[in-house]
Parts: sequence; C-alpha cells; structure tokens
Amino acid sequence: MSVTETGSAHPEAYAHLAAEAAKLDAQDVLRDKRAEFVLDEDSVYLDGNSLGALPKAVPGRIADVIGREWGELRIRSWTESGWWTAPERIGERIAPLVGAAPGQVVVADSTSVNVFKAVVGAVRIARGRDEARDEILVDAATFPTDGYIAESAARLTGCTVRPVQPGEVPAALGPRTAAVLLNHVDYRTGRLHDLPGLTAAVHEAGALAVWDLCHSAGALPVGLDAHGVDLAVGCTYKFLNGGPGAPAFLYVRAEHQGAFDSPLPGWNGHVEPFGMEPGFRPADGSLRGRVGTPDILSLLALEAALGVWDGVELDAVRAKSLALTDFFLRCVEAYVPEGRVEVVTPAGHAERGSQVALRCADAAAVMERLIATGVVGDFRSPDILRFGFTPLYLGFADVERAARLLAETLDTV
Ligand SMILES: *Cc1c(COP(=O)(O)O)cnc(C)c1O
Repeated sequence: MSVTETGSAHPEAYAHLAAEAAKLDAQDVLRDKRAEFVLDEDSVYLDGNSLGALPKAVPGRIADVIGREWGELRIRSWTESGWWTAPERIGERIAPLVGAAPGQVVVADSTSVNVFKAVVGAVRIARGRDEARDEILVDAATFPTDGYIAESAARLTGCTVRPVQPGEVPAALGPRTAAVLLNHVDYRTGRLHDLPGLTAAVHEAGALAVWDLCHSAGALPVGLDAHGVDLAVGCTYKFLNGGPGAPAFLYVRAEHQGAFDSPLPGWNGHVEPFGMEPGFRPADGSLRGRVGTPDILSLLALEAALGVWDGVELDAVRAKSLALTDFFLRCVEAYVPEGRVEVVTPAGHAERGSQVALRCADAAAVMERLIATGVVGDFRSPDILRFGFTPLYLGFADVERAARLLAETLDTV
C-alpha cells in the first residue's frame, strides 16, 4: 500500500519536496564525503548517532595492522608502529573537532569508564579547594550509564548526587556543589544544551563542569577551550565513525591537569611506565588519563576512520546538520497525517543536536517495520522513534525518502 493510495499526502507534495531535495543535494559542499563511506543505495542510514557507518579507509588499514604490524613485527610494533603513543596521538586528532588545543585529549577506555575518571577527578579538584563541597549535580535525563557511575563516584568521594534538569542547574548550584555532569545533547530527545552558559554558571558557583559529548562530538562545534569546560568525555563510535566499541576520549583542561587525580591510576598513566616502580607517580598532561594497555585494533581503526575529517569545516557540518533536520521535519509535516507523531526535538536551532526524535504510539512496531523498508533509525523506550543525521554521508534525497517511507509505515501499523 502506498501513501498516495491511503491519502496521507498529495502526489504533488512528494514531487515538490523531492525536487527541492535534488536542488539541496546539488548545492551541498559536503556531498563528496559520502564516497568515503561504505553504504548501500537501498537503505537510508539514520542511526549514525548510535553506530557511525564504516569509512572505506578502515578495512585496508586494519588488515595491515593485523598482517604486518602484529603478524610480522609483533612486539616491535609497540615502538616501531607507534602503538604505545596511539592514545595521545589519536587524542590530538580529535582535539580540534571538540575545540581543544593540543595536550588535553587522550583516547582510552569506554565512555562509561571516562565518566568515572572525570567525575571523581572533578570532585577531587573541587574538594581540594574547599572540603565543604559535597554535592554532584547530574542531568536528570542523562543517558543511564552517566547517572549510575556518578552515583558510585559520589559514594567513593563522600558526596551525594542530585538529579537536575539542565535548564534548572543555575538555580540548583550553591556553595556545596562540587561538580556538575551534563550531556551536551540529550540522547533521547536530541535537545542541545547551552554548554557556554551552563559552564559559566557552574564556574560562578565555584564548581567544575563535566560535559558528556557523546552526541555532539563530530556533529557540531563544541568549543571546549573557548567555553572554559573543565573536563569532558565522549564516544568515538557515533558521529566519529570509529567502529563498534571504539575507545572513548577524555579531555582534561590544561589548567587542571596538575591537580587531576585519576581514580584509576594504572601503569599507562605513570610518568615512567617502564620504570616498574611500586608507587604511582602520574604522567604530565593528557597521558595522566590513561589506565592500562590500549586496545590497539580498535584504536587504529578509529585513527583510520578519522581521516574522513581531513579538510572538513565543523561549521559546514553544523550548517548541513541543521538543514537536514529542518528538511526532515518539513517532510514529516507534509507527509505524516496530523497528530500521528509528536516532534520531541526542539524547533529552535540553538537547542537542536543532529537528531530528530518523534513520539508515537506503537513506536517499537513502527520502527521494526520502517527498518524493513530500508530506513534505519532506532527505538528508545517507551515511545520514541529516533533518527540521527550524519552530515558527512547523508543527503537531502535520503531525508525525503525516509520521511516518505515513515509516513507509509505509519499508515500500515
Ligand atoms: C552512547 C553514550 C554512552 C555510551 O557509553 P559506553 O561506555 O560507550 O557504552 C554514554 N553516555 C552517553 C550520553 C551516550 O550517548
């Protein structure tokens, strides 16, 4: 059954929006980037905010890492192939994408583990200045792992956690606040929070701001240095396309590095890792965030994947991201019968990440059927259809097609 038969939209609307999509694609300055990814023409991939598509440079690089670096050079690769320094080298590659000057970003471990390092580290810095600070404010709508880990970090440091909606953080701050853990973009709704304004408010209260950039790194300019962020963490397998389980990154602002006391002081973060000393002496700079032996295969896949950013301006990525989500919202409005879905993502550009979330009845069943048509988004409990828009490999025709197939699917569920 097609939409035209069920009468949800007029055929002229399709022709009109399809023609507009073609025009927007022709003007798209990032359109050649798609050829750097492995994608198929039969589907529209709107799940790059969960697992980015595979950059074409990765398989060959990983074959070389396995066959030559591991297979032939074996242990020599720790030095000769640059394995040992990969965490900080790849950190430097990510740094400009999040607005960080060199020496502040390291790639290691999962996001969850880095949330732990960052929150405990932030609380220790805050309490080192003022022991009376014993409260951690946490984004009440946070991705669950951040909340779970903040709870444990609080128990370990003698603090309590207070869940607060990001917009209410300024009112909740006080002399007892040690640190504030916030998501830059809400993973469920796609709402972008005011990183500059909230960070300034946290500082005014004498506390430290820790930002989780999982849904903004690679999707929009972040400006960590410019906005004075204290510590930050982020995923590399979402908009940075690093591959399933690719290690995350940790940012520790230069001025805090001397006081950053990692709760996971592993031998890789030691100033002399091969001195094999019984006592821990932390390395300087971003290296202090390292823990144990890095997962080289994942790290080097990520490094190869980051090649797609060569020559890309983040402002162009942001402009296209907003144009794609605007266009998707227009197509949804034109094609989907009124009242069938509720747009949860903010309409204002200043409050929108690179994702659109739609609330609807039977969302799980709708998404299952939609995926069967080749439009791949995801479902978030209890009633959210989530669509991620990766500007490097999506076009406007993809967006029009996704909205059209969504409308058709909604008609049949
Ligand atoms: C995706 C995501 C994570 C994932 O954490 P992992 O440790 O990589 O599983 C954490 N926080 C946020 C906000 C996320 O969006």
